[in-house]
Amino acid sequence: MTNAFCVRCGSTNKKMVGALCIDCFLELYGLVNLGSPIEVVMCPKCYSIKVRGRWVKVSSYEEFIDIVRTIIRSSLKPSRNEVSIENIDLPYLEPFQHKAEILVRARVSGHLIEKRLVISLTWRKELCNICFRRAAGNYQAVVQVRFVHETNDLEAFKEELFKMFPDDIIEIEEMKGGFDVKVSSDHVARRIAMLIKRRWRVVKTIESYGDQRRRRDGKKTGRLYISVRVLNYREGDYIVVNKKAYIVEKLDSNTITLRDSSGRIHKIRLSELVKGVSKR
Ligand SMILES: [Zn+2]
Ligand SMILES: [Zn+2]
Repeated sequence: MTNAFCVRCGSTNKKMVGALCIDCFLELYGLVNLGSPIEVVMCPKCYSIKVRGRWVKVSSYEEFIDIVRTIIRSSLKPSRNEVSIENIDLPYLEPFQHKAEILVRARVSGHLIEKRLVISLTWRKELCNICFRRAAGNYQAVVQVRFVHETNDLEAFKEELFKMFPDDIIEIEEMKGGFDVKVSSDHVARRIAMLIKRRWRVVKTIESYGDQRRRRDGKKTGRLYISVRVLNYREGDYIVVNKKAYIVEKLDSNTITLRDSSGRIHKIRLSELVKGVSKR
């Protein structure tokens, strides 16, 4: 249908890109500029990858491939104005591998072209912000979660926390009768304490500041400690309320029934229990 001919090779029966046939065009210019290697910044500890200044967690091979593909996609520049890249496939890549085969789908003056290309990658190792803080032991606040009974829902909650605050939890340290959640900000510590309060309801929280120092400008600095005690008592438990010892007889949604040493029964609102329960 076209009566144009290629100024380079003289072909008359080929798809044309301006004055060149598509083959000559690709031979001369290629689809993309393959000049400098594409840099991937990766945390050597947790394999998070930096994408446009932000650390992205990588939890599977598929995610790894997907993130690197996105970086390649945004780094590859079309060789000429006539080329627009439609898609890039990255079938296989290992971390720290310097050459990668990609499949580029592009339009060249409207003609759909697919080409396998080998690109160069450089890998820069940099600690992500979480691993950096972890390495430096830098945490701003601690939620000290303690409970009467270690139940499965508390274990599951720990897992949930990691998912909810992936960038803010520096470490969860197992302690006797509970765990300490070390976090990057007071705000996150208070949010975690609030989540526990909402879910387990009978919870006693106390805030305090540790290692307090006065800064030059007179402001006090120090780590926020939130003690969160989940009072998940069961029937038959021994309990001290307002300095008196009891056995838990019964638990309801709003009250707890206690028996003292002389066998007398006391009904207490759970809100009162939270106030009156002794430290340990
Ligand atoms: Zn030609
Ligand atoms: Zn990391």
